[in-house]
Amino acid sequence: MANKGKPVIDRERCKGCLLCVRSCPTKVLGADLSPNSWGYYPSKAVNEEKCIACGNCYQVCPDAAITVYRQ
Ligand code: SF4
Ligand code: SF4
Repeated sequence: MANKGKPVIDRERCKGCLLCVRSCPTKVLGADLSPNSWGYYPSKAVNEEKCIACGNCYQVCPDAAITVYRQ
């Protein structure tokens, strides 16, 4: 059975570069439509149930804004 994961994005650390969105093999992440207090549109888990805990998003994030929990 594939690993299951849960990505948690720190909205205030995120600068909205969306590298994590591009790095996700199962299209879990997308852009949030509401900005954070800096005016950036952070990424958001839009298909969390598809997360396989690969860690790509965590590794690619330049601002250490993502934590991935294994479930
Ligand atoms: S890679 Fe990091 S900074 Fe860029 S959108 Fe994703 S969470 Fe935000
Ligand atoms: S851990 Fe992997 S599958 Fe889960 S959101 Fe991040 S890139 Fe996508």
